[in-house]
Amino acid sequence: MNAKPLEFLQKDILIVDDTQDNLRYLATILTDEGYKVRKALNGQMALKACRVVVPDLILLDIMMPDMSGYQVCEILKTNDATCEVPVIFLSALDDAFDKVKAFNVGGVDYISKPFQLEEVLARIQTQLIRRAAELKIQQLNAELESRVQERTLQLECSNQDLLQEIKERKQLQEQLLHLALHDSLTNLPNRSLFMERLDQAIALRKANPDYQFAVLFLDCDRFKVVNDSLGHLVGDELLIAIGQRLQSTLTENDTLARLGGDEFAVLLEELPTLDRSPAIADCILDSLKEPFQLSRYEVFINASIGITLGSFYNEKPEYLLRDADTAMYRAKSLGKGQYYLFNPVMHEEALNRLQLENDLRRAVERKEFKVYYQPIISLTTGRIYGFESLVRWQHPVRGFIPPVEFIPVAEETGLIANIDLWVLGESVRQIQDWQHQNLIDESVTCSVNLSARHFLQSSFIHRLRKLLEVTQINPQILKLEITESAIANKNQATLDILHQIRDCQVELSIDDFGTGYSSLSYLEEFPVNVLKIDRSFIKRIDGSEHNGGLVPGIIGIAHTMGMIAIAEGVETPIQLEKLRRLGCDFAQGYLFAKPLNPDAVAELLARSPQW
Ligand code: C2E
Ligand code: CA
Ligand code: CA
Repeated sequence: MNAKPLEFLQKDILIVDDTQDNLRYLATILTDEGYKVRKALNGQMALKACRVVVPDLILLDIMMPDMSGYQVCEILKTNDATCEVPVIFLSALDDAFDKVKAFNVGGVDYISKPFQLEEVLARIQTQLIRRAAELKIQQLNAELESRVQERTLQLECSNQDLLQEIKERKQLQEQLLHLALHDSLTNLPNRSLFMERLDQAIALRKANPDYQFAVLFLDCDRFKVVNDSLGHLVGDELLIAIGQRLQSTLTENDTLARLGGDEFAVLLEELPTLDRSPAIADCILDSLKEPFQLSRYEVFINASIGITLGSFYNEKPEYLLRDADTAMYRAKSLGKGQYYLFNPVMHEEALNRLQLENDLRRAVERKEFKVYYQPIISLTTGRIYGFESLVRWQHPVRGFIPPVEFIPVAEETGLIANIDLWVLGESVRQIQDWQHQNLIDESVTCSVNLSARHFLQSSFIHRLRKLLEVTQINPQILKLEITESAIANKNQATLDILHQIRDCQVELSIDDFGTGYSSLSYLEEFPVNVLKIDRSFIKRIDGSEHNGGLVPGIIGIAHTMGMIAIAEGVETPIQLEKLRRLGCDFAQGYLFAKPLNPDAVAELLARSPQW
């Protein structure tokens, strides 16, 4: 007998056979082999035994009176508790058909009677080993499964954590993105986002020429006044309120952005027709007419709007915005509180203007300016009393450019300060030159124009003093012409500078008198020596039906205040005659001479004219 592994001892084997002898014989042998053996004489008993304790193996006879072995096996196989128990059929039938059937109903082996004992034992052992292995595998599987389940649970947990983390990170990312693309004050899209949308609109239009869009560029009028007078917090509150009001006039298709400061932009998309955009601009301007109820103040604000239509552009969203901006400036210059529709001509103008700015910058460096001199005549002697210096720009390509064209540009760009100082220096040099040539005597005056925008800088005094010191010119022959508006805003700083000029013994003239602020009170406070009566008043004293209009009054004011009066733009002998009769002190104009270049002045002086 083979030595059986210890684990097979006490294995429970059920023997089912209706032949008592067979039962007994097999039982004895198997018991001797160390198995625990139970016996059943028929199918019913066998099933019952299985219900009590599930055996480890069944030896099952096929031919039995009440129920065949096949039937018993089939029943066992349908029961969860017993379906796995290995069944070895024992039978005298030895037909292939029977063997196949035995396997079909679930048997694991088949032993033909009469059997060899060794064969029976060997087959039992094989099945027990197989079954044991099967159980072991099942157990391992179960263990594996529970471990997989455990790990799955762990994975699910960490997966959950991961998902949460991803969600949080995504939220953070969205917040960051929102911050990058929105204005923090109004929470409206900012310039970057606006440009992105504009880019998309341009692309959409390229794909579909029927798609219409437009850009509105909106700038608040006089917003600075609110900021300066009510403070930045109120200004901020107002900007938020403006943003909300604008938003309420727009549809969901439109993009409203704050570009910065008090500038907003609107991208109008899917316009049914192009003339919709001016209508929307009107609607916006209307909505702004209502006052803004802020927490502490009620504020009125107007805006100017520039409009560009998408149809002009195939690329570069910046161009659209730039042109809308240009149109907005036009709207402002036309009187604010309105809109202006951009047209390509404006672009050309803007380009010209830009070119002029560049050229002007270069002109300062390259000294392309010349000074012309217009004589000022004493009406008592009829002789030349002095000269007014008038700047001329000889553009290398465009030729002569009149001051009315470039002075405003020079003022806006700040270049005027340098130009004015150069004219002042050049005029002094020229006057001294004429003095040295004995063409004029020491008393002939030199009037120089100063832009309101820049003579108020404190550095001006410093440079004036330096000029007087270096040239040693008699300061009393120097007169600085400034317009009324330059000093109308009479603050302490203005007064200080004017007094410092007077302390240098340089005189001040009010230019174009009568065209600016009409308040005369400032004349008393400021150290002004000369009133220059604007050409427009002189023109009107021509007709005999007039008795001089405002001119006699202005001359009167000048004299009562201890100032002298100079008439500008005298063109006719009649004007001259009337001015003489009215007691005007001096005059200049085409009647005497146009502004002349230095050579022409020298010629004129040589003739020593008298009028
Ligand atoms: P303004 O100071 O009133 O200068 C007088 C202007 O009237 C000059 O024009 C002169 O040529 C012109 N004018 C003189 N007599 C007559 C006349 O009988 N009839 C007519 N129709 N016009 C006459 P201009 O030279 O074109 O200068 C224009 C303005 O440009 C000046 O007006 C002045 O405001 C400004 N400007 C000229 N040179 C300078 C400068 O160096 N610096 C600054 N800041 N402004 C200057
Ligand atoms: Ca002048
Ligand atoms: Ca003038």
